[in-house]
Amino acid sequence: MKKVRYKYRIYPNLEQKAHLAKEFGCVRFVYNWGLKKQLDAISADDKRPNMVALSKQLTTLKKQQDYSWLKDVSSDPLQQTLRHLDKAWNHCFSKRNKRPRFKKRRGDQSISYTTHAFRIFEGELFFAKMKQPFDVRFSRPLPSAPKTATILKDTTGRYFVSFTVELDPQPFPPQNKSIGIDLGLTHFLTASDGEKVENPRYLERDLERLAKAQRQLAKKQKGSKNREKARRKVARIHAQIADKRRDFLHQLSTRLIRENQAIGIETLAVGNMVKNRKLARGISDVGWSGFVGMLEYKAEWYGRELVKIDRWFPSSKTCSCCGHVLETLPLDVRMWNCPRCGAKHDRDINAALNIKCAAGLAVQACGESHLLAERQLSLFQSGFEEAGKQPS
Ligand SMILES: [Zn+2]
Repeated sequence: MKKVRYKYRIYPNLEQKAHLAKEFGCVRFVYNWGLKKQLDAISADDKRPNMVALSKQLTTLKKQQDYSWLKDVSSDPLQQTLRHLDKAWNHCFSKRNKRPRFKKRRGDQSISYTTHAFRIFEGELFFAKMKQPFDVRFSRPLPSAPKTATILKDTTGRYFVSFTVELDPQPFPPQNKSIGIDLGLTHFLTASDGEKVENPRYLERDLERLAKAQRQLAKKQKGSKNREKARRKVARIHAQIADKRRDFLHQLSTRLIRENQAIGIETLAVGNMVKNRKLARGISDVGWSGFVGMLEYKAEWYGRELVKIDRWFPSSKTCSCCGHVLETLPLDVRMWNCPRCGAKHDRDINAALNIKCAAGLAVQACGESHLLAERQLSLFQSGFEEAGKQPS
């Protein structure tokens, strides 16, 4: 069973927005209150109170006159936020995250409910202590009854509900095909079968719009209503770009996984490339690492093989027909002829073929000549040595 999130846009009315604002506030208060208790305990060399201990203290707190407003909201999300606090500490100890930090009014807001505190009935979503159901756009059907529901409000003022659902993904029907993938800047990807997927450069297209919105934000007076409005506009453009990019990456990764039994991919040293400022914007725009992550989990779900070539090897400079390695191949050379065997290469398709081969996937290139995995392995190793010589 896999836990999967299904996220939908919701459109709360004014009354619901007011109620949610209250819930967000209470949850944030309880989280920060719990964290403060824990930090105090730690600095006094006491045992850090866990969710159970805090939950008991919370019950006492609610009985006090000054904190009775905590009773106006459902207790379920308050319990959930203490559970999240425990999780945040666990992630901190396992070095996955930094120490939990206090939640701010400014950031994204969220409240989570367990299955007791919400229900979906005839396409409407009901929550405990809220009279009216929410207007949800179910853009795709939920595969089964959700275990938790989280209401989110992003910094642009949009509301979403995100359900966790347990899924047992069925493998896709087997395919005979396998491919190698070269990720690049000119094209988002080039596959060894010759397919080229254009880079959707949303950011570039929206950059002008973003720059204009940012200029206007800079002009507005601090603390003014207009500044808040301008800030939202900037955040909205960022969010739109991120949404479009995620949709693009999801569609592409699912299609590649569906059509191919095995995929070889070179994981690039993105960190090094981002240091080059000219390339940096293009790269952070295209979202390569997110794409590889999607391929990874979808391969696992749908019974496919993903082979990552995670060391640098000269995939562009090597002739996929005879194995000849060029001394240099400048970035602007898109086509080249092999000086040894005369094969004419498209730079990216040739690289994708080499990646496929290095991934141990059978390659049939240049008509009758089959590439031997053995030869490629030695190439791979020589690339490895070469890479080792370079200062890191
Ligand atoms: Zn050649």
